[in-house]
Parts: sequence; C-alpha cells; structure tokens
Amino acid sequence: MKYHIKQLTILLLGLLSLILIFNISPYQKKKSPTIILEGETSVSLCPNASYEEKGYQAIDYNQKELTNQVEIQKSLDQWVYQVRNRQGYQAKAIRKFIHEDHEAPVITLKGNIEQTIYKGHDYIEEGYTVKDNCDTDLKVEIIGEVNTNQTGIYSIQYQVMDHAFNQTKVIRTVTVLPPPENLDKVIYLTFDDGPSYTITPQVLQILKEENVKATFFVINHSDDLNYLIKQAYLDGHTIGIHSYSHNYRYIYTSEENFYSDLMQMSNKIEQITGHKTNIIRFPGGSSNTVSKFNPGIMTMLTQSVVQKGYFYFDWNVSSEDAGGVSSAEEVYQNVVQNLGQHANVVLMHDFENNYYTLNALKQIIEYGKANGYTFARLTENSPAMHHRIYN
Ligand SMILES: [Zn+2]
Repeated sequence: MKYHIKQLTILLLGLLSLILIFNISPYQKKKSPTIILEGETSVSLCPNASYEEKGYQAIDYNQKELTNQVEIQKSLDQWVYQVRNRQGYQAKAIRKFIHEDHEAPVITLKGNIEQTIYKGHDYIEEGYTVKDNCDTDLKVEIIGEVNTNQTGIYSIQYQVMDHAFNQTKVIRTVTVLPPPENLDKVIYLTFDDGPSYTITPQVLQILKEENVKATFFVINHSDDLNYLIKQAYLDGHTIGIHSYSHNYRYIYTSEENFYSDLMQMSNKIEQITGHKTNIIRFPGGSSNTVSKFNPGIMTMLTQSVVQKGYFYFDWNVSSEDAGGVSSAEEVYQNVVQNLGQHANVVLMHDFENNYYTLNALKQIIEYGKANGYTFARLTENSPAMHHRIYN
C-alpha cells in the first residue's frame, strides 16, 4: 500500500512539472491570441461620418505580437477584428458604431439681438454665423421684415435644420420707435461733393466720436473711395444722391440728362451699400440759377422728382465753405450764428482739402450739444427743406 502511494505521488509530480515546463494547459483557451481595442468599443458617430481608427493590438498566448496579421471587416455598423495564430486558434473583437445626431445647430447673431431704431431709419441686417456638430452645409432661413415706416415691435426669425432634422430658431427683436420729440431743435449736418481722401475719413471719425449722424450727398469719384461711402452707410449716416457728373451744363440741359445722371449715381450707391436711396440734393440747390440756360428746368425737375418718389433737400444754414471763407473760425460762425429753434439743415462740403470745415466740425457739434440741439440724419420723414425756385 505504501509503495503504491509513493509511485502515485511521483507520477503526479512528474505530470505537474511537465505542465510547468512545456506550458501544456488542460484548457485550450490559453493557446488563443487576444485582441485589445484602444478607444471605445461602442462609438457614437455623426450619421454620415466614418470611424477613424484609434488603434488595436493582437498578442498571442505566448506574448508574441500578431497585430499586423489582424484582418478587419468593415461595415457601417461595426468593424470586426480577427486574427489566427499558428496553432489555428483565433481571436475576435468587435467595435460597434451608433450613427446618430441629437445635437441641434447653433446660430449666433451678429449685432444686438434686441435693436431699437427710430421710424424712418434703416434697419441693417447684420447677419449671423451657424455651427453644427455634424453638418457644414447648412442654410439659415431668415423670416420676417421690419417696416421702418411703422412703429412697432418686429421679429426676425433665423431658423435652420440639420440633416438629422434637429432644428434651431433664434429671434431678433427690432423695435421701431416714433421719431424723437424735440424735432424743433434739430441740426441736420449735410456734406456735399464727397467723398474725398483728405477730408471724409476724418469727418467720419469726428462724427463717430461725437455719436452724431449726418447726411452725405455724394458724387462720382474714383472707385478707390467707394469704401468711404460704404463706411458712412455702415456708421448709420444717410447717403444721398447729389450727382454723378456734377456738370450743370449736362444735367440741366434736359430732364432725360438729369435722370440719366441721377440713375448712374443711384446705381453706384446701391452697388456700394446694397441699399437704394431716395434722398437727393440738386447740384446748386433747387434755387439755382446756373440752369437758366434751360428756362423752367428746375420747376419741372422739382415736381418730377417728388412724383418719382424722391425726397429732395436744400438747406437753411450755409457754412459758405464752397468759397467765401478763409478760416475754420468763419465756417464755425456762419453755422452757429444762423441756427434757429427749428429744423436746421446745414450745408457743408467734404471735398478734397476742405480743411476749414474739417477743423470747424467738432466745435460746431459741441456748440449744438451745449445749446440743446440734437443731431439727426435726413430721411424721408425729415421736414422738407425746399428753396424758392428761380428757374
Ligand atoms: Zn455740389
């Protein structure tokens, strides 16, 4: 009996050492390789997106690297990774994909989300940006309009839907207020014959610093100056049509010539600002006598422009800066001495090198503010300022 037990023990020990030495496992699983996936094994993706491999590794039961023998079967919903070792044992791993998009696009409005403007002033659409987690080709629809001739609260709705039907809506509120009360003490600064390299940029700068809106009656100059018209418009000033050619002989020869010249300038302004203006000033004013060579032309034109929907403005305060002044002080005096307790339309010019006016501008504005005047730009709701017609 003792003998048998001893034999059996030796046999068992022998078997155990065989297992240890040759790594013979009683379980077949231990001979299989293993695949390790890096990153998530269940991945959420945009509907049209394809997965970008985060990496994987295959190791055999004996720590041998098998990674470059892995085969991947790719389908939309999953990738199946497979590898087989020399013994014919195989490993398999699966990475699953869920194609979904529950995130709505984001619309960010440029400019204020709540705006207030006075009746008759322009509403300028400042635009938006749109971003989405999955889509880059989204189109935002803008619904609603602002009737600037009617007081009230208007909503502009910006809406967009991505390809997974997630929707976003953003609303801008625009309040159109009645014009300010104190119309009886208003100064409308007007600048004719610009823009110019030397004067207009600094005029715009002063107006911006003083937060004053004005009116520019522009004529045709080099296209290099177009940006000044655009800037004046974006700064909130009125761009009015003065003339394309400013050539009295041409424009006052016939109604046809006049309107052809007017339309040329109108089109140029519209191209630059994206806005059609109906505010005009006759070259020389409606009271001019330079058109006398064509008797009655101003009587005809002052009627026909109104019929065509234009609003023309002359002036009741002249700075005399187009000749007859020899200092900024004179420009200043000519303006402030003639201001009254009513609508004041001030004639000035921003043509090249008109430094007298440029150097008087800040003082004129300061005088106006100190004496209870408000400044405004001309619109079709501004009080008509018409001269007597002499021709
Ligand atoms: Zn002029």
